[in-house]
Amino acid sequence: MINIGVLALQGSIAEHVHSLSMIEGITPCEVKSASDLEKISGLILPGGESTTIGKLIKDFALTAPIIKRAKEGMPIWGTCAGMILMAKEIVNEGYVHLGIMDIAVRRNAYGSQLDSFNSTASIPIIAHEDIPLVFIRAPWVETAGEQVRILARVNHRIAAVQQDNMLATSFHPELTTNLAFHKYFTGMVKKYLICG
Ligand code: GLN
Repeated sequence: MINIGVLALQGSIAEHVHSLSMIEGITPCEVKSASDLEKISGLILPGGESTTIGKLIKDFALTAPIIKRAKEGMPIWGTCAGMILMAKEIVNEGYVHLGIMDIAVRRNAYGSQLDSFNSTASIPIIAHEDIPLVFIRAPWVETAGEQVRILARVNHRIAAVQQDNMLATSFHPELTTNLAFHKYFTGMVKKYLICG
């Protein structure tokens, strides 16, 4: 069995755990401490409130250990608030959290009019079928570095990106029954375990 962690401080934790539990060979693990982090081979940073999760990451002394594991190549996937936590720049805020991914994001980018909405997209790298996308007060990626692969745009805005072992989506696959992104991330984790 492969252990994949879900950062379990605030946000859509149970939903990610449920999605992972639907995939054969995966044991979902809630991560709340540095020692939990040592037992996993991949980590999901859930959606929620990035300021709250960012503060809790600090309070639980997880900032440096997460950055270390990311630099060592362990796959990390951030959904929505999780994407904000990973970004090296938040263009409409004066701070960063983990700063591990070469993207500049805008928080609550879609504004009040489109605060929350559903969409679908064809993302051939992830799945053959169209994927349902749930946006909740979502960020978008405003700029991405050269090493960052753009996986999906929604309404002309970058909504899914990958940089080596790091994946980030501005939407919430864990709030749908579609497992394509969780399976794709599982593939990244398997590759990491085989190739390092
Ligand atoms: N708007 C939230 C933030 O800035 C993210 C929302 C979400 O994760 N659904 O942290």
